[in-house]
Amino acid sequence: MGVGRLIVLTGPSGVGKGTLLRSLLDRHPELYLSVSATTRNPRSGEIEGQHYYFTNRSQFDRMIAAGELLEWAEFAGNCYGTPRLPVEERIQQGQRVILEIELEGARQIQQTFPSALRIFILPPSLAELEARIRQRGQDTEEAIGQRLHRAQIEISAANEFDHQIVNEELETALDCLETLLFQPMPKSEA
Ligand code: 5GP
Repeated sequence: MGVGRLIVLTGPSGVGKGTLLRSLLDRHPELYLSVSATTRNPRSGEIEGQHYYFTNRSQFDRMIAAGELLEWAEFAGNCYGTPRLPVEERIQQGQRVILEIELEGARQIQQTFPSALRIFILPPSLAELEARIRQRGQDTEEAIGQRLHRAQIEISAANEFDHQIVNEELETALDCLETLLFQPMPKSEA
């Protein structure tokens, strides 16, 4: 079986990456979405091992020290990282593997997996992004402030990515994402 492909999906908190990915996985159950480790507390409805592996700082530090994370970063006061083994195994098995990660992690992957396909999801506007984060109603005022500040930094780095998709209308953004993911791989990477 051929070697699979790593796909990095980045975009500011609240841009709708989760919804896009859920719809994408409904259409393509053969895709593998990596499950990250995080020190953040679970939000209501989040399930251990499905949305994240919820952990504490000392366990997270142990994973870093043991080289178990492919990349990791701090975001809005918490740590997030990609467990290395499941990702490497799936790529070896020929699967397309998606990492839904923030900017610093995407930059690390650029160094370690230069052939990864990197896609940035943009909101229609900052005002719309803030409205979406508030609508979600799951973050404190402090966390909302941190997320909006980080959003501006991330958006200004969008052109570092191979492709940018504006998530104004879900179906349109989803079609774009699907096209990018299933375009033939360049020969040198296939
Ligand atoms: P949230 O707390 O909203 O679930 O995630 C906050 C941010 O962390 C999002 O931008 C998300 O993409 C990012 N994130 C989630 N998992 C990882 C990971 O494993 N590594 C990195 N670098 N970022 C992650």
